[in-house]
Amino acid sequence: MSPEARVFFGLGANLGDRRAALRAAVRQLREIVAELRVSSLYQSDPWGMTDQPPFLNAVARGETALTPIALLDAIQEIEHDLGRVRGKRWGPRAIDIDILLYGSEQIAEPRLTVPHPYLTQRSFVLRPLADLAAGLTLPDGSLVGELLTTVDQSDLRRIEGPRWAE
Ligand code: AMP
Repeated sequence: MSPEARVFFGLGANLGDRRAALRAAVRQLREIVAELRVSSLYQSDPWGMTDQPPFLNAVARGETALTPIALLDAIQEIEHDLGRVRGKRWGPRAIDIDILLYGSEQIAEPRLTVPHPYLTQRSFVLRPLADLAAGLTLPDGSLVGELLTTVDQSDLRRIEGPRWAE
């Protein structure tokens, strides 16, 4: 068994009952990682395609002994389970789960890029990540709390505290 790694997930939904989909995702994540904690819940305008409903976003944190690829398999199973329709890139989706960080590892494999490429650019990732770990240093040495000051947060609205997932 490999030692436990601290992992962060980005969660997003913009189809149907988005909050219910995110709560279901958190319930299933609790089955595969220990010590799960979630950020507040945010609403953001869709990125890329603008003729679709707004996204609800959050970040979750946990501890796992799964390898990065085994963790990716597990979250893809959850996405599949929750009825995600794989469609257009940037298109509407029931649930999207990304691995934002896996310990301090940098991974560049065909199926997996960690840290997630959008991590440093999107307020809907950085803001909830900062809720859980503003003082966290990324593998490249940048600080989450400082990165957050560099992104536009005007389209982002905090709609509920971290108890949304309970
Ligand atoms: P998405 O449209 O964000 O759901 O993209 C899913 C695809 O991204 C999958 O085929 C994954 O293999 C790939 N992928 C690459 N890096 C990551 C990551 N850090 N977390 C989740 N999926 C990833």
